[in-house]
Amino acid sequence: MTDIALPESLGYSYDQARERLHKALQDAGRPINGAALLAVSKTKPASMIRQAWQLGQREFGENYLQEALDKQAELSDLEDIVWHFIGPLQSNKTRPVAEHFCWVHSIDRLKIAQRLSEQRPEHLSPLNVCLQVNISHEASKSGVMPEEVKALAQAVATLPKLRLRGLMAIPAPADGLVAQRKPFSALHQLLVELQSELPEAPLDTLSMGMSDDLEAAILEGATLVRLGTAIFGARGGV
Ligand SMILES: *Cc1c(COP(=O)(O)O)cnc(C)c1O
Repeated sequence: MTDIALPESLGYSYDQARERLHKALQDAGRPINGAALLAVSKTKPASMIRQAWQLGQREFGENYLQEALDKQAELSDLEDIVWHFIGPLQSNKTRPVAEHFCWVHSIDRLKIAQRLSEQRPEHLSPLNVCLQVNISHEASKSGVMPEEVKALAQAVATLPKLRLRGLMAIPAPADGLVAQRKPFSALHQLLVELQSELPEAPLDTLSMGMSDDLEAAILEGATLVRLGTAIFGARGGV
């Protein structure tokens, strides 16, 4: 005799994730529409993306190019879906990204940005991009070092088929709200500096916060949180 909502249907976890975001915004004293939800669907089947779309979700994030292209083909009837590429990007894989995505969050060097701009089809609006910052200075992690963000941003802002929207980071895991907030605060500060440096650029996006640190990111001004596990459940180990 149980009437507990089972997570088999996405409805429950999706509502929970949205409520969690709304509560975090309220607790931070921010407007309820102050941050958007990016559903990170890597490793999850197209059928789950379709289910989330039916629940009203429109923005989806993918990490692996071939997997993403396969799912996009399967979901091509969902005309208003917005695809974000959030994974590491090699320079020989930029063309399909330029052709099939609306956003790229993981720009960390000029060469990638130049190729995306050159390869963005004429009939599409400019590709929205965020610079990925290695905000915790981790040796083996992708992302431009904080000291180099300004120079990269200045160069990217001149590329005709890109629109520089902001910054993204995946901080080193930390325990507790105080420790989690520090790198997010640093990323926000970097964005503020870029905004005064590049007043013409549409720098309105702080892509930060995942399932484990959403609240800290919202407290520090995140405008786009990237939730995978909290919406779709744990990802398989293999
Ligand atoms: C996988 C991934 C996420 C989502 O992580 P969860 O912890 O499952 O919410 C967010 N951002 C990036 C860049 C990712 O690769």
